[in-house]
Amino acid sequence: MESLAPPNWDVAISRAKASNIPAVFEILKRHTYLPDLAKELRKAKEEVIRNFDYYIDLTRKSIERIGGKFYLAETPDEAREIVGKIVGNGKVIVMSKNNVATETGLRPYLEKLGNEVWETDLGEFLVQIANEEPSHILAPALHMTKERISQVMKERLGIDVPPDPVAIAQRAREFLREKFLKANVGITGANAIAADTGAVLLVENEGNIRMTSVLPPVHIVYDGIEKIVPTLYHAMIETLVQAAYAGLYPPTYVNLTAGPSSTADVEMYRVSPAQGPKEFYMILVDNGRRKAAKDPVLWEILLCVRCGRCSMHCPTYWAAGPRFGKPPYTGPMGIPWTAVTRGIMEAGPAAMLCTHSGNCREVCPMGIDLPKLILHVKNEYLKQVMKK
Ligand code: SF4
Repeated sequence: MESLAPPNWDVAISRAKASNIPAVFEILKRHTYLPDLAKELRKAKEEVIRNFDYYIDLTRKSIERIGGKFYLAETPDEAREIVGKIVGNGKVIVMSKNNVATETGLRPYLEKLGNEVWETDLGEFLVQIANEEPSHILAPALHMTKERISQVMKERLGIDVPPDPVAIAQRAREFLREKFLKANVGITGANAIAADTGAVLLVENEGNIRMTSVLPPVHIVYDGIEKIVPTLYHAMIETLVQAAYAGLYPPTYVNLTAGPSSTADVEMYRVSPAQGPKEFYMILVDNGRRKAAKDPVLWEILLCVRCGRCSMHCPTYWAAGPRFGKPPYTGPMGIPWTAVTRGIMEAGPAAMLCTHSGNCREVCPMGIDLPKLILHVKNEYLKQVMKK
């Protein structure tokens, strides 16, 4: 019988589980304040989900106050077109890992316009050069063993590298360094967006987000409306919670960006630009999110901080890999996210694979009742299938 999972998935997922699962437990044991922060964050995110229009408007006003331009896109087409108009063609674009960019097909769209586009997160870069789809919300190249990565780098880029994580990271760094320096535009996502200030918080370890958001003259923030939180305080909390439950705590970097670069060094008068970007744009995508906010069951997935922990504890994901969900939204969180962004009929077949072990609910920092959401997707899917 043909396996549902990609080749060597069992090796890749076993290695990932062995390093990630104990790391998160150790972090939670060492920093006992984290579950309380997660509870506080849940309350703040609930407030935004209940009042999306108010907080989107507040974010718009804050972004304009700090010298940026704000756009709300209802659909993927609209979102891509807005970015296309800002960017134009013939540009070098660097991107940091961004699930909403994958959700809306942003990279292929910008390439089609005649731009050279590079993913700068190592995992996403590997997925790009392999011409494959991401397999995990946080570690997109999770399905690729180090042996396969070495082979792909040789085949696609002519880069000779042994199957060794340190050597792979080093060669990718050398390749991407030149792209950062040439880039005209940097596109990032956001871990959290503070409605009160327009500040964007991004948590990372590689340093690629820092360079993507600072080196090119234009910075575009492109993400979903659910990234809005009421205040900068809540946005800071979100970075801590996301990093901890992803097993990477403390994160190497937390980036805060609020508008184009500026200086107040001459007579304490704040002017823009300074050394960083001259232009700052924010494009927030709805694509089913406000509709989901009104759904009595599905609304809860909008609380997700994309830590990926539910996938690491899910026996269906261990067996089926990225086919449990639809890239970029894979694993237990991937089922409701696919339902929100692509509809029940697309999420349904993968939902039917769920065995309802319930592990995902136990480990989710946001306390999302994932089995309930997945059961809802199954029910709605079967109702629609029966109607046909
Ligand atoms: S559903 Fe929960 S555990 Fe899964 S990625 Fe989202 S926040 Fe993390």
